[in-house]
Amino acid sequence: MSAYVGRFAPSPTGPLHLGSLATALGSWLDAQVHQGRWLVRIEDIDPERCKPEHTSAILQALHAHGLHPDEPIWTQSQRHDVYDHTLEHLLHAGAVYPCACTRKELDAANQHRAFGDNRVYPGTCRHGMPKGRTARALRLRVPETPVVWTDWRLGPQAEDLNHTSGDFVLKRGDGHWAYHWVVVVDDALAGVTDVVRGEDLTDTTGRQVAVYRAMGWPEPRYFHLPVILAEDGQKLSKQTGAQALDCRRPLDNLAHVWSHFGMPALGAGLSLTGWLQQAVPIWANYRAAHR
Ligand code: GLU
Repeated sequence: MSAYVGRFAPSPTGPLHLGSLATALGSWLDAQVHQGRWLVRIEDIDPERCKPEHTSAILQALHAHGLHPDEPIWTQSQRHDVYDHTLEHLLHAGAVYPCACTRKELDAANQHRAFGDNRVYPGTCRHGMPKGRTARALRLRVPETPVVWTDWRLGPQAEDLNHTSGDFVLKRGDGHWAYHWVVVVDDALAGVTDVVRGEDLTDTTGRQVAVYRAMGWPEPRYFHLPVILAEDGQKLSKQTGAQALDCRRPLDNLAHVWSHFGMPALGAGLSLTGWLQQAVPIWANYRAAHR
């Protein structure tokens, strides 16, 4: 495998909070341990949820916590051409096909499913759209056999996408991109070798691995970190009232997420750089101990 390239890919739906700082710190430390490069990518393709002021707040907060990217930042809202151009490849190969189904039709096909279960695409347009219908989305044909991949912390994983999602959307009819497409295109084109991110994204990985394989790209290694939850057990987010970090107290914030990873407190009175430097060999031991 080529030299380590890691990344932090926040969606600017709110400022950096303890949960996202934990992911940023974990991915940064992992890149340092492997003498790799650490990239930051702003995942702002959803214009309704993402705001430029949150992007600036996130970047300022990373800076205040001593987490500096090694390369210029990529911003997904400026990369539509790349996503379109890359998708052509899958369209020509027949790995992606146009689908005419409406939300109502998909709901009807899934009505026997329990509330909260994933909706599975029934395959209606897999062999061509019904006559006279127009495309509302582009879907990836999922493999017939389960997608098998390994998470460094959680171990071997297998997902039969035919039962969990069916052929899933890469691009919607209104031009919106699906997360599974843009995250893979950007990670692959940036040469990311190691995806270190929150455990809440573990169940998105099977679909992303399927995209890598459809494109014929080597997939990265995955390491899903434990997520810091709100008191009610929900993921920390703007919706669950996650507080923006107080960037005047970076060491307190770092110490908080560090203890969440189960790590021993670092020496008192350290500078920010000193703290981060001390954390690197401890992260290296943690990695080595679990190998
Ligand atoms: N943008 C996603 C989020 O903020 C993370 C994507 C990823 O790390 O793959 O939840």
